[in-house]
Amino acid sequence: MINAVLTIDDVASANTPAIVDYLNSNGITALLFAVGENVEKYYDNAIYALKNGMILGNHSYSHPAFSKLSVEEAVEDIEKNEVVLDRLYKDAGVERKYRPFRFPYGDKGGANKDALQAFLRDKGFNKLKDTQLPYAWWKEKGLDKDIDTLWTFDFAEYNIRQGSGFTEDDVWKRINNMDPAYGAALLKEGNSHFLLLHAHDETEELVPKYYKKFIDYLIEKGVLFSKPEFI
Ligand SMILES: [Zn+2]
Repeated sequence: MINAVLTIDDVASANTPAIVDYLNSNGITALLFAVGENVEKYYDNAIYALKNGMILGNHSYSHPAFSKLSVEEAVEDIEKNEVVLDRLYKDAGVERKYRPFRFPYGDKGGANKDALQAFLRDKGFNKLKDTQLPYAWWKEKGLDKDIDTLWTFDFAEYNIRQGSGFTEDDVWKRINNMDPAYGAALLKEGNSHFLLLHAHDETEELVPKYYKKFIDYLIEKGVLFSKPEFI
């Protein structure tokens, strides 16, 4: 069996409702990491995601590289998005049970890493349950101790841009790579994943319904999607 929790970053976007509808038609509850600025821009779409069963987490207000910020600036940015998300949940009429957090670019703050982890812990942020992950490297890197949520497989589809040289084919290669240099092989029997996809309208323009293409294939390959759980 291959198990996966789907996470989608940089919500909200114009294509968020279509993604949510697709996920619900396949019985998938995803953890959507929301950027405050994007939520403010596509507020109704973020409300739609909450009303339709998705869980929204904090992915910062302005999507900075946290290693370039002071601890104070970092905390300010995270808390600014907490205000946005508290209001969003309230406006959607949905109880906010969990407060997961993901750093943009997986940048945990460089020299400020320990201080930021302590902040997340003290503020009661929730960790996505990772005890099922079978990878030695997850523990060797201390990811089992961190409060924020990284990923085990990145589709990297956000690199598909005009002139980037990265194409849909490269995503398919990643999906089918059984021996990746980083992270874990997506389709290796027995693996368990936190999958990383993005809600980007730029990707939608170049590869319509990219999320359906990739996730339909995983479902066909027997990947079982679990509802996000927190510890
Ligand atoms: Zn992001």
